[in-house]
Amino acid sequence: MNRMTTASRTDSARQLAPTSPPLPRRWSISPGDLNWGVLGIALVIAAMWVRHGGLDRFDSPLNALTAIGQLTALYGTYLALVGILLMSRAPFIDQVVGSDEASRLHRLAGFASVWFIGAHAIASTIGYSETTKIPTIGEVWNQIYTFTILESGGLGGTIGLALMILVAVVSIRAARARMAYETWYGIHLYAYIAMALGFLHQLTLGTDFIDDSLARASWIGLYAIAFVPLITFRFLEPILRNLRHRFYIDKVVIERDGVASLWITGNAMEKLPVRAGQWFGIRVLNAKGWWRSNPYSLSAGPDGIHLRFTIEALGDRSRDLQRIKPGTRVFLEGPYGILTGAVRTREKVLLVAGGIGITPLRALFEVLPVRRGDMALLYRAPSNASVVFKKELTRIAEVRGAKIDFLTGSRDQFAFNDDPLSPGGLWAAYPDVRERDIYLCGSPRMMATVEKSLRDIGVPHHQIHLERFSW
Ligand SMILES: Cc1cc2nc3c(=O)[nH]c(=O)nc-3n(C[C@H](O)[C@H](O)[C@H](O)COP(=O)(O)OP(=O)(O)OC[C@H]3O[C@@H](n4cnc5c(N)ncnc54)[C@H](O)[C@@H]3O)c2cc1C
Repeated sequence: MNRMTTASRTDSARQLAPTSPPLPRRWSISPGDLNWGVLGIALVIAAMWVRHGGLDRFDSPLNALTAIGQLTALYGTYLALVGILLMSRAPFIDQVVGSDEASRLHRLAGFASVWFIGAHAIASTIGYSETTKIPTIGEVWNQIYTFTILESGGLGGTIGLALMILVAVVSIRAARARMAYETWYGIHLYAYIAMALGFLHQLTLGTDFIDDSLARASWIGLYAIAFVPLITFRFLEPILRNLRHRFYIDKVVIERDGVASLWITGNAMEKLPVRAGQWFGIRVLNAKGWWRSNPYSLSAGPDGIHLRFTIEALGDRSRDLQRIKPGTRVFLEGPYGILTGAVRTREKVLLVAGGIGITPLRALFEVLPVRRGDMALLYRAPSNASVVFKKELTRIAEVRGAKIDFLTGSRDQFAFNDDPLSPGGLWAAYPDVRERDIYLCGSPRMMATVEKSLRDIGVPHHQIHLERFSW
């Protein structure tokens, strides 16, 4: 089996992409600025709680519990709003934090929010029970019933909490792995109903909002900060963009068994701002496909005419996409993602691809501006037959003076120290690896191995750029 073969280089400097469409705007804010913003608002919330007598209530255990219930409700809701903003696909989040990281933080904020709101329910139930002894199950049930059915705003609060718990349970990795993505996603959307019910509950019953119009207006403003970007960038902007470009499939090209490229075009494609390395959600506008959006990375540098996506048939959707007829209209959401030249910090670059993770790296290999000899691609695939774009990659390597290594075969065949993705293997193949930006995309296992090796070698964190194909 062929383990590592190196394609040749030539000195030709031909530019491969015919025209360059405009680049998406770059945001000069940093993740640190966003952190300060989130922390600043958290401090204002604490100040509001203190101003409304939160600390004064620590005069008795039951009062203290109501105060804790109040604080956990505020922060639980705040965390849920931060989680929503993170998934809004607003470019000032997506382009600064990255969609991978935004989705990881969204998950953390979501789980933390459910813990806080659960704590709010428990602390408030006990705190308002006005009992000094441990209540019986019957008394607790009675109190929940009275609160839910008789208290104005109570029903929404209870249903909202139940929905949040449901969303959290199905999002636990073990539960999620047992469900179809669409089933999980459908249930996950109940979080929005929970947020709406929670909003009404807070404005009707929230101690901080009933008598303080400034606090109420600020809280509504906080909801707007999360939901306006969500509505704008998840719905309005994609709709306007698709009305403008009216994307459709121009051709479908079989790359190898099980892998096909969709060439998508439309109106005014030269005006679509996009970078190589970004991805789009693709929704096919036919009876079967309009309700599902699946993420795919560009597999070629944008040329102002086509967007090319290359799809491996892994499940129902990817198989259907490969059989799509030219002329079919598609709805594209994006471009998203920061595995692009915009995050580059060094002159030299190493692209590390695994399997179908080659797609965004193929596009970067084509267009990243580099001097001859400064770019290398390491492409890991289970076998020679599973390599995609071999000819294209070899040609790009020749034209751009880049090094390309195909690393094929089963991982088990490498003895422990001989693994080319181990620190020793990477160091031997790329002795200047610490001076490079590394762009990495592949299977979760392969990415974890390479990430660890790069850390062991001492490649700084900010030089490692990733795209994960699994959320
Ligand atoms: C940012 C990104 C870029 C990607 N780029 C490419 C690419 O260029 N080429 C390629 O072949 N694949 C790519 N993928 C993977 C591709 O999106 C999935 O393989 C595809 O959605 C699987 O759908 P399915 O119905 O065929 O398979 P299923 O059997 O339904 O799912 C297979 C896996 O894909 C995940 N998945 C399914 N639907 C979605 C969805 N809508 N959003 C996120 N994950 C989903 C599931 O959780 C599961 O782990 C990318 C994924 C991401 C997140």
